[in-house]
Amino acid sequence: MNLDIISIGDELLIGQTLNTNAHWIAAELDKIGFTIRQHTSISDNKEHIVKTLTDALDNSNVVLITGGLGPTNDDLTMPVLNEYFGGKLVVDSDVYKDIERLILGRGFEMNENNKRQALVPDNCKVIRNPNGTAPGMWFERGNKVVAAMPGVPFEMKAMITDSVIPWLKQKYVLPEIVHQMVLIQGLPESKLAEVLTDWENNLPTNIKLAYLPSPGRVKLRLTSKGANRKQVQQGIDEQVEKLTQLIPQYIYSTDNINLEELVGKLLLNKQATLATAESCTGGYIAHLITSISGSSEYFKGSVISYSNEIKINELGVNPTDIETYGAVSQQVVEQMALGVLKKFKVDYAVSTSGVAGPTGGSLEKPVGTVWIAVASKNRVISKQFTFGKLRSVNIERSAVAALGMLREVL
Ligand code: AMP
Ligand code: MG
Repeated sequence: MNLDIISIGDELLIGQTLNTNAHWIAAELDKIGFTIRQHTSISDNKEHIVKTLTDALDNSNVVLITGGLGPTNDDLTMPVLNEYFGGKLVVDSDVYKDIERLILGRGFEMNENNKRQALVPDNCKVIRNPNGTAPGMWFERGNKVVAAMPGVPFEMKAMITDSVIPWLKQKYVLPEIVHQMVLIQGLPESKLAEVLTDWENNLPTNIKLAYLPSPGRVKLRLTSKGANRKQVQQGIDEQVEKLTQLIPQYIYSTDNINLEELVGKLLLNKQATLATAESCTGGYIAHLITSISGSSEYFKGSVISYSNEIKINELGVNPTDIETYGAVSQQVVEQMALGVLKKFKVDYAVSTSGVAGPTGGSLEKPVGTVWIAVASKNRVISKQFTFGKLRSVNIERSAVAALGMLREVL
């Protein structure tokens, strides 16, 4: 069952307002089994609205529209839909009462604009708006539905949740949909695709695969639909099992969970504590870890040892080693991890030292060179990475790699 989303509003086109409505609607309607065919953002313009709506109705069963339902002249959605479906604007007494209650409740008198908002096409079902003055409209043409809501996000959300979704569920028989995430770290997308070629080629045709890369990580999404949820999930589980056998060392979760959340869980299970000593990541790893609620149970703190002076004075790094090997070196990063382990009396410590760029690189240590260490009571491991040229990406990849190394140790 296809669904189109049309977002109307000049403010969306010029980048003044982020189109969060389409994002939210898509997620909610995907959950109940619709296939989202297309999102379209258009201006408050009659010809454009008609053209887009016609195309949407040619291709989808359901068209959800937001925006352009205000009381002012720049909002055209109501008169355009009224004309499109050949209706007449009439005062709806329930809507009038809704508006009156809201306006009087705010301490204002009903003005002409407010009264005008009680006018709705006589051939639509009204979608009541409990949080605002603009009513929504639900038109049916045979097996197809067009529903229009105001653009204000909290008004639109209540109308979709309270009216549109229950009505759609009543009208259509919708399939069960399962999205399964498999989170992968340590293999770049291109390499991963190569390793997975055979598995991918042999996927059943009812399972769709998507690669969703971000710095240092790739999310695989497997999607399948069917009448029976258990069967759909079973089909997916079989493929995840095959995948797990293929690349066990790279999969860190089959729940949609962050590395920082996973590391937190592992530390909690062990009742162990953690600290970080961060140079090139400047506290970013600590930020990720503390973004998880409950992290105070296992995270003690961080030394942001950006300068050599702090590496030496706060972490006990040997100044001769900094001179001999450089701050971005195995010797230094290991001493940083061991230093913070001892200083904060924790069970595990993570450290980073690298050239985030764009300046500071050398022939021997180009921008993107990063050393990462993980220390525990009885050992310290370290690894050199060569990332890219972009500072923010290097910082993110360093943090992801550090959390990944910590996960392996845990
Ligand atoms: P309207 O229904 O066109 O009067 O929209 C009212 C307000 O809702 C606008 O001023 C925007 O701030 C907001 N809005 C409209 N469309 C969207 C959208 N697609 N995503 C997020 N906000 C929106
Ligand atoms: Mg508008």
